[in-house]
Amino acid sequence: MIRADSFTFDNSYALELEGFYAPWKGESVPDPQIVMLNRDLAEELGLDPDELANEDGAAILAGSEAPEGAAPLAQVYAGHQFGGFSPRLGDGRALLVGELIDRHGVRRDLHLKGSGRTPFSRGGDGKAVLGPVLREYLIGEAMHALGVPTTRALAAVTTGERILRQDGPEPGAVLARVANSHLRVGTFEFFSARGETEKVRRLADYAIRRHFPELDEDDHRYLQMFRKVRDRQAALVAQWMSVGFVHGVMNTDNMTISGETIDYGPCAFMDGYDPAAVFSSIDHRGRYAYGNQAAIAQWNLARFVETLLPLIDPNDIDHAIEVATEEVEAFGPVYQRAWLERMSAKLGVDRPEEGDRDLVEELLGVVHAHDVDFTSLFRRLGEAARGDPRPTRALFVDPTTLDAWLGTWLERLVREPGTVGARADAMDRVNPVYIPRNHKVEEALDAATASDLEPFERLLTVIERPFERRAGLEAYEVRAPESFGPYRTFCGT
Ligand code: AMP
Ligand code: MG
Repeated sequence: MIRADSFTFDNSYALELEGFYAPWKGESVPDPQIVMLNRDLAEELGLDPDELANEDGAAILAGSEAPEGAAPLAQVYAGHQFGGFSPRLGDGRALLVGELIDRHGVRRDLHLKGSGRTPFSRGGDGKAVLGPVLREYLIGEAMHALGVPTTRALAAVTTGERILRQDGPEPGAVLARVANSHLRVGTFEFFSARGETEKVRRLADYAIRRHFPELDEDDHRYLQMFRKVRDRQAALVAQWMSVGFVHGVMNTDNMTISGETIDYGPCAFMDGYDPAAVFSSIDHRGRYAYGNQAAIAQWNLARFVETLLPLIDPNDIDHAIEVATEEVEAFGPVYQRAWLERMSAKLGVDRPEEGDRDLVEELLGVVHAHDVDFTSLFRRLGEAARGDPRPTRALFVDPTTLDAWLGTWLERLVREPGTVGARADAMDRVNPVYIPRNHKVEEALDAATASDLEPFERLLTVIERPFERRAGLEAYEVRAPESFGPYRTFCGT
């Protein structure tokens, strides 16, 4: 029995931002059953995983019942989707259950996805199905283990319903997830588009209190907040790039103010390095391709700063535009620096010099031309640093292809402080052995949908320790076989 006082909610959004949401309740479902429970995360949140695992816990995590102290609500937001503005989106199938202060003193949202229709559902059924719910669970945990800021899954719960989707009925499910907040660029856009400047200010003040308290007294706090969000997003996208991650649906409603990755719909990790890599079945023009992600982040940030213009300089909009434009343009160098640091670290270089950019670019050029697996390549370069270039060379049809580059790189590496062995060890700490390979993800989700959770649980244990090669897991290291074909993902609704 989960006790009424098991959750100690402290609901700032509900209390401080009336008018920014609809109070709402989850739909009651016939048979809530926990499929996956993230025990470590539960403990981090100060919750007892054993209590959560019981029947009442399942009902709460499915949204069927609200725990005491919760003030569940559906948040309103707008968003630019594939470049076009939708003035009213909002939580169409999600609820913010409440906020918990975790063991580190950090305020975390407890949020449910798939908990039924809300006033923002438009034509949707408000539901989610097991495959996409487990996908978000898995990829979020993989990102977390890779050190990438992300929302995390607390639980996946089946509801006992069958939900009709494209390919027929599927098991209904709810994802309970945790985030530093669910403030999105799109939240600001909603009020800005309606000309509600005072509400934009309240939202910005709330965001500052929650994420950037050091700015509270700052005379230029709105511009400073923008800078911080910009820098976090630049750092985040650089991290995505460094692990070959394609988010797939970087609409402004899927971009957080906290700087966490959110909404794992059609995302995927690429195998062969390709700047044009696109997996989403609806991204026909490759707007959200791997190589476009930084440019899109900057575009989204421009939409964000537009909402802040009346706050940046209420008396002189031209001046506000001028300073805002400068800050948006600064995304370029901030991102480039973050990218160079991440990519250089993958090559064992801790203190990148400008010339290292060419070194990285040249490598990526060769790797692209020869369709070499991104993840395997960098991991194997660690072995090359230790003196054995054979595994790296074996990735190329013509093994001499990379020899000239390898020579230049190894010369560069000896100029770094510390032994080459220490450099190689550092590389192994940033170059994963295991990522959620697309074919393995599909295999695990297909089995889970047919009630066999074993492949999913196994894959989860693999990606939870991505940097540590373990015996018997060879199949998880390699790219999809030719027979898997081109990978297509769906928004998972
Ligand atoms: P997403 O693509 O998941 O980021 O969602 C975009 C918008 O569509 C959000 O406002 C969602 O709440 C809404 N949405 C997605 N799927 C559903 C669904 N099955 N029912 C209602 N609303 C949905
Ligand atoms: Mg979304």
